[in-house]
Amino acid sequence: MGNLAMILTTEELSRASLAAAGSLITRPEILAKALLGGGTDQQKSEWLPKLASGEVMVGISVTEPDIGSNVAGAKCRAERTTVDGVPGWIINGPKSWCTFAGRANILALLARTDPDPSKGAKGLSLFIVPKDSFTGHAFECVQPGGGKMSGKADATPGYRGMHSFSLQLENYFVPAENLVGGDAAEGKGFQLQMAGFAAGRLQTGGRACGLSQAAIEETAKYVVDRDQFGQAISEFQLTQYTLGQMQIKLAGARAITYAAARAFDADERAAAPLAAQAKLLACDVAVEVTQQGQLMHGGWGYAEEYPISRYVVDAAVLPIFEGVKPILELKVIGRAVLAG
Ligand SMILES: Cc1cc2nc3c(=O)[nH]c(=O)nc-3n(C[C@H](O)[C@H](O)[C@H](O)COP(=O)(O)OP(=O)(O)OC[C@H]3O[C@@H](n4cnc5c(N)ncnc54)[C@H](O)[C@@H]3O)c2cc1C
Repeated sequence: MGNLAMILTTEELSRASLAAAGSLITRPEILAKALLGGGTDQQKSEWLPKLASGEVMVGISVTEPDIGSNVAGAKCRAERTTVDGVPGWIINGPKSWCTFAGRANILALLARTDPDPSKGAKGLSLFIVPKDSFTGHAFECVQPGGGKMSGKADATPGYRGMHSFSLQLENYFVPAENLVGGDAAEGKGFQLQMAGFAAGRLQTGGRACGLSQAAIEETAKYVVDRDQFGQAISEFQLTQYTLGQMQIKLAGARAITYAAARAFDADERAAAPLAAQAKLLACDVAVEVTQQGQLMHGGWGYAEEYPISRYVVDAAVLPIFEGVKPILELKVIGRAVLAG
């Protein structure tokens, strides 16, 4: 249906829950784009229909305890092996911030297949790692051959309902057919992952717009109901002006996000810097608009009883994930400007 339909769906889900839009769209979007960009025909026909229908839920596992923005430095190690006559890989190492890793049936995991650290990004490969699905805040998957994956959710102030896990993989076996792109794509995981991230950024622009919309709607309701100094606070000109400013900022964020979605339909690679700009602007707007809405709720804006308090803590994560804000400015957008 194209990227604009994806954005509109994302916005509507995010108006109700940032976590719902994250689990249902962000992660499958990232893996689907990586598969479309470099998966084998067999991998596409195996995984894309399952991702589209929701039969298979995904977690994205790139970040490590010591590796965040510098993705090319990932250390989690995958080595070739054969288990019971089945060729494949064993994966060892820690991963962090793997959102939805408990409930997910598969993880798209970036691992180092070339032990030479000087290879940097060229030593990384992308794997589809099957696992059992769990609810709750901790899990352990033990394979018949003894391989193990354990996960523990890290408590966060917002983005609840979508736990992010620290993971530990010990001799965890993955069949050879799950190396995205097959043997020919060994060492190409970084570029496949980056293609996925560009799509994730576009989608996160939509998440931010949906959240801002929810904040404006809740604030508009509250100011009509709340009286001070003998009148509804919506009657004060400052309230009307502030709501107007919030709406204008959202309109700008929405316009750039829709423009990026259309550009993505035409040429994903060329549109990647615009998707990053949409993500940046829409996420900044969501932080500002939710905080402004909270202020207009006064003390009740700090109470969990009112959704605006949730919107504020949810919005705070938006400039951090899918590329932390200064890195997008420097390495994606600034460089694209300098490259002409
Ligand atoms: C709630 C949540 C969910 C997440 N979900 C996932 C997920 O599902 N999968 C996944 O793989 N990851 C996930 N992440 C991780 C997220 O993508 C990283 O936090 C993000 O990429 C930043 O990495 P870092 O936290 O290691 O920060 P760092 O890279 O350590 O950066 C810290 C600070 O240093 C600055 N900095 C770093 N390098 C430079 C530089 N060269 N120049 C200037 N400044 C620099 C950064 O801008 C930043 O301000 C999630 C994070 C959160 C908080």
